[in-house]
Amino acid sequence: METVDLTDLLSTLVDKGLQAEPGGVTRDEALAVLATSDDDLLDVVAAAGRVRRRWFGRRVKLNYLVNLKSGLCPEDCFYCSQRLGSEAGVLKYTWLSPEQATAAADAGVTGGARRVCLVASGRGPTDRDVDRVCRTVDAIKDRHPQVEVCACLGFLADGQAERLRDAGVHAYNHNLNTSEATYADICTTHEFADRVDTVQRAQGAGLSACSGLIAGMGESDEDLVDVVLALRGLDPDSVPVNLLLPFDGTPLAGTWELTPQRALRILAMVRFVCPDVEVRLAAGREVHLRSLQPLALHLANSLFLGDYLTSEGQAGQADLEMIADAGFVVEGAGTGTLPAHRADVAVRRRGAGTDLPPNA
Ligand code: SF4
Repeated sequence: METVDLTDLLSTLVDKGLQAEPGGVTRDEALAVLATSDDDLLDVVAAAGRVRRRWFGRRVKLNYLVNLKSGLCPEDCFYCSQRLGSEAGVLKYTWLSPEQATAAADAGVTGGARRVCLVASGRGPTDRDVDRVCRTVDAIKDRHPQVEVCACLGFLADGQAERLRDAGVHAYNHNLNTSEATYADICTTHEFADRVDTVQRAQGAGLSACSGLIAGMGESDEDLVDVVLALRGLDPDSVPVNLLLPFDGTPLAGTWELTPQRALRILAMVRFVCPDVEVRLAAGREVHLRSLQPLALHLANSLFLGDYLTSEGQAGQADLEMIADAGFVVEGAGTGTLPAHRADVAVRRRGAGTDLPPNA
C-alpha cells in the first residue's frame, strides 16, 4: 500500500462518508485508517465524528441485552465463554420464562433502552424454542409496546425468521465476527458462510439485520477490514463492534491485543466504511477503551446499556452520565431528562499534614 497523506485521506473519507455513496471507502483507504499513528488519533476521530453527526447527530441509541439461555452451547467459538468445554465459570441456565425475561427487560427499558436484545446460546433454535421466544416477545411488547425487540438465537432454519417477524420481532442479530479467511481460526463447528446465510434469511423475512464483529482475536488489519467490507456487502442496519473479552477458561484467554487508541481506530474505520449504519459499542468497551470511552461516542451512535451476556459492564447510571457529559443525548429521552452528575467535593484527610499515607 502506498504512503498516504493524512489530510488527503481524511478529506476523502469524510467526503465519501457525508454522501454515503454505495461502494464508498476502498479497502486500501480502510487499511490506511488502521495504519494511522497515535499522534493522528484525534484528527481521525474528528473526521469520523463528522460522518457520525451527519447521519445520527448527537444521538446515542441504548440497547439492552437479556440472556435467555446461558452457557452449555455445543458450538466451539474460541472467543465465547459459553462454548463447548468452556471453563469460564459463567452463569449457566436454561430458558428464562416470558415473565423472567420481561422483568429483566424492564430494567433496561427504564434505563432508556429503545431496543431489547433477546439472546440464547446454542447452534440454533428448535421450533419449540421459537414458540417460547415468540411468547416472550409478546409479553415484552405487551408491557413496552414502543420498544424494538431483536432476537439472537443462532442459525435460523426455514420459516423461523418469518415466525419471529410475525410475533413482533423487529431485528435479528447474527455476527460475522471475523474475516472469511480466518474464520476457521476461531471456530471449527460452523463456517463463515453459515453465518452469512442466517443474516440473509433474516433479511429475506423482512427483519432488520444486525451483524458485527469482534476485534482483538489475533486478526490482522486486513482481516478487520475484510470483515467490515463483508458486513457492508450484507447491508445490515446495525453493526455491533465487540472488543474481545478474553475469558479465562476459553482458548483466547490471555489475548490482550487492543489499546484504547487501536480500539478507536477500529471504530473510526467501521464508521467510514459504514457511514450511515448504526455502529454499536458492544462488549469490551469498558475494559479496552477505559478512560477514552467518551471519545468512542464520536464514532459509534449506539451502545449496550449495563451488563453483557456473561460479563458485567459498568453501571447503567455511569453510561448515562458519560453520554451526557460528552454532550450526547440518549435517543428518545428528550433533552434535559438526565440530571447533571455532581460528585461531592471530598475534603482531603490524607497525605501532607496528616498521619495517613498520601494518595499516589
Ligand atoms: S454459537 Fe454463540 S453461544 Fe455458542 S459458542 Fe458460538 S458464540 Fe458462543
